[in-house]
Amino acid sequence: MNIILLGAPGAGKGTQATKISEKYRLPHISTGDIFRDNIKRQTPVGLLAKSYTDNGKLVPDEVTCEIVKGRLEADDCKNGYLLDGFPRNLFQAETLESFSKADAVLNIDVDLSLLMARLCGRRVCKDCGESYHVDFLGGKTVCERCGGELYQRKDDNEETVGNRLKVYSEQTAPLIAYYSERNVLLNIDGVGAIDEVFARIVAALK
Ligand code: ADP
Ligand code: AMP
Repeated sequence: MNIILLGAPGAGKGTQATKISEKYRLPHISTGDIFRDNIKRQTPVGLLAKSYTDNGKLVPDEVTCEIVKGRLEADDCKNGYLLDGFPRNLFQAETLESFSKADAVLNIDVDLSLLMARLCGRRVCKDCGESYHVDFLGGKTVCERCGGELYQRKDDNEETVGNRLKVYSEQTAPLIAYYSERNVLLNIDGVGAIDEVFARIVAALK
């Protein structure tokens, strides 16, 4: 099964992706994680991506689409994949469609007014990428899954989050209509406990 996770920054895509990927045995492919890994390793892609991710802008489509196309050709995607954070505009959606079709597009719906607090309080594991929120960490500084150190992403600050939400509204939100027209859209209420949201996803995928 080929699944796309759609939703604004902070809607809970990464959080749900961990669970979906485990239950349905699909590789979790996050373009944001791919860019952060390249930035850390200072690869040519990382050097190019850094100025865009730091400002909450989209990395150019040619680079992003090339990376995703290459990744989806890997052996572990033969039985499906879970895309998180791609596509993010119409060009990317059309490019993806030229080499792979989505079976289900999960649109995790959260009111934009809730996202600033979710993102500015997010802490991420530097080893496995798991997301947490300071409000629920009770002072813990390491990852529950792997023991890795938690850090705050450089783009999880008020100014950059503002830019990211604007980019989402202008460029990514139109994909809801795009996938609805293709009859693959599943709307998921993303407000509620993490396990409740996951149960909604499992029910929608049946
Ligand atoms: P995305 O991948 O869509 O940007 P994340 O999964 O990283 O979003 O979640 C963003 C923040 O919101 C994190 O701090 C995460 O712990 C928190 N979060 C995720 N799901 C929920 C939820 N159902 N309710 C409240 N907070 C959540
Ligand atoms: P995310 O981890 O999904 O919040 O993405 C972090 C940042 O990576 C974004 O703000 C963009 O700068 C970049 N990025 C991630 N996915 C894409 C994409 N599909 N197209 C362009 N830029 C992306």
